Amino acid sequence: MIESINPYTGEALEKFKELTKAEIETALENAHNRFKSWRKTSFKERAGLMKKAARELKDNKEEYARDISLEMGKPITQSIAEIEKCAWVCEYYAENAEKHLSPRNIKTDASKSYVRYEPIGVVLAVMPWNYPFWQVFRFAAPALMAGNIGVLKHASNVMRSANNIQKVFERAGFPESCFQNLVLSSSKIEDIIKDKRIKAVTLTGSKPAGAAVASTASNEIKKSVLELGGSNALLVFKDADIAESVKTCVQARFQNTGQSCIAGKRLILHESIAEEFLDQFLLQVRELKSGDPLEEDTYIGTLARVDLAEDLEKQIKESVKAGAKIVLGGKRDGAYIEPTVLTGVTPEMSMFKEETFGPAIGVTTFKTSEEAIDLVNQSDFGLGVSVFTENLDFAEKIIPEFEDGAVFVNELVKSDPRLPFGGTKISGYGRELSADGIQEFVNKKTVYFK
Ligand code: NAP
Repeated sequence: MIESINPYTGEALEKFKELTKAEIETALENAHNRFKSWRKTSFKERAGLMKKAARELKDNKEEYARDISLEMGKPITQSIAEIEKCAWVCEYYAENAEKHLSPRNIKTDASKSYVRYEPIGVVLAVMPWNYPFWQVFRFAAPALMAGNIGVLKHASNVMRSANNIQKVFERAGFPESCFQNLVLSSSKIEDIIKDKRIKAVTLTGSKPAGAAVASTASNEIKKSVLELGGSNALLVFKDADIAESVKTCVQARFQNTGQSCIAGKRLILHESIAEEFLDQFLLQVRELKSGDPLEEDTYIGTLARVDLAEDLEKQIKESVKAGAKIVLGGKRDGAYIEPTVLTGVTPEMSMFKEETFGPAIGVTTFKTSEEAIDLVNQSDFGLGVSVFTENLDFAEKIIPEFEDGAVFVNELVKSDPRLPFGGTKISGYGRELSADGIQEFVNKKTVYFK
């Protein structure tokens, strides 16, 4: 049995029976058979259904959001915002999939030559709990619009949300088995990836999970996309607008109770503004209201599981032992961790070199821009970096120096259906969203007429 537990109350919410071997076989066979007809549907037909999925999400956002908050402790207003964003990605691909996948003519010595973008079949998505709807929709909307079929292995602690996502597509009127949630533990994934009916796999999650899934897929010569962890830097130069950048950095670190791959996890400040910045930063962090995830004015909920809070507590303690200083917070109660700020963090400390998945941030200072860029790049992760400066020419000049998948200037790193999203280094490979995302799981077929 797979179980959902409310991390705020510790109450068991619901148990889910794992699929049997025979049920997995039926699900995969149905998905495979559905592909035969779904691949022939028109973009117009798919777009009509995808718009209905967006409508379904908007009409029932409170219902879906409540289950997210109950299962993983996300404050309710943020859960509602997550559902609204899912509706946006459905609408985006309903409107743009055909354009992103229209054949591309290429002039050669042929009488006619072009590239067609064709669906490949059933794609497996292995997904995490931190944005239980968004992570899945940013895969599912482009996959289905491209003519593929989706099967989902969701994180074990958010199975109710996983079933709700299947329900969204069913209620929208998608043909049966276009999108199925498989109630499974991760030990079953290897065999599923090896199954001939699965053509590719996408995983959002940690490095060990990514490595396990990608090595099975590569042994089978199947494509994978990996969206893994991050340790984004918030890099503040001395000419930054302090008030604005403080506000943005607080949100970058503490939204979703800090449990976001693209959260700003390392605050890197020019030494001349560090004190002023930190004073304002601490003032704002103190004002973030912790509490019941179902209350509308709660900004900081609990972490999704007690063990995750224990992990973060350990990283904080290790960094203190290595010389960092807690200037705010630091205490844990069950799955709850106080918003925490540490100063004097250096690259060899856990708070700097590891991913911290919760409401805690380490502060490091720098003297020169070379030193700043070097600090940013010292991370093994490469998802994104936020740079704060009023000198936009300088910002343009240093952009090529960063090894990350994204650079946001005077803004937190965020995903947007119109922009490609993905990392470098151990943050993974491949891109989601935009034209790049929908083109990951297609056969780019070259056609040549003599
Ligand atoms: P996780 O433990 O890696 O789990 C992610 C998914 O992988 C879950 O469905 C999990 O199933 C499954 N899984 C775990 N081990 C597996 C294995 N050996 N083989 C196959 N599947 C396996 O990650 P998480 O704790 O849920 O999520 C947090 C991590 O995700 C963080 O590192 C975060 O940065 C990353 N993340 C990245 C992005 C991005 O876009 N780059 C976005 C969000 C989160 P079970 O739950 O059943 O174990």
